[in-house]
Amino acid sequence: MNKAVFIDRDGTIITEKGYLSDPSGVEILPTAVEGVRLLKEAGFKIAVVTNQSGVGRGYFSLEELNNVHQYVLDYFQKNKASIDKVYFCPHAPGDNCSCRKPKPGMIEQAQQALDIDLSQSYMIGDSVEDIQLGQGKGVLSVLVLTGYGEDTKTKTTPDFIAKSFLEAVQWILRNPRKG
Ligand SMILES: [Mg+2]
Ligand SMILES: [Zn+2]
Repeated sequence: MNKAVFIDRDGTIITEKGYLSDPSGVEILPTAVEGVRLLKEAGFKIAVVTNQSGVGRGYFSLEELNNVHQYVLDYFQKNKASIDKVYFCPHAPGDNCSCRKPKPGMIEQAQQALDIDLSQSYMIGDSVEDIQLGQGKGVLSVLVLTGYGEDTKTKTTPDFIAKSFLEAVQWILRNPRKG
């Protein structure tokens, strides 16, 4: 089985822009590539897990969303920091689906597809929902202070609070889980 780091997208590895629908608007956060590269070198699978209700709300199409994700995947791969897979929830809050964070659907899909041992795994994100998702599935959770992180830090109790994505990664690498 594999250990994994589940990673939020907006505000965690790319700038939070609110309903981003075009690759030209993607801004990779400064330490995201280096952080993912270090995690890959340490043997982690990397699964991005992102709520994209802009699809369900009719703000952008699945095709536009997939274009954004292909751009992000290509960018990381070119920089020797391959993301294994992007999981997204396209539903609106009222749809009552099983994948919108903090519901566990995306982690459960990744767990099966990538053969992940959750007791060896971690979550990195900037929102309450990210931390709740991690805690609900028994993975250690790191809050980053990018994106909504500053607003989130008084509202949740992550295992660690990191100023940047790289600092989150360094904490993970210093704190291997016993499983
Ligand atoms: Mg986020
Ligand atoms: Zn969903």
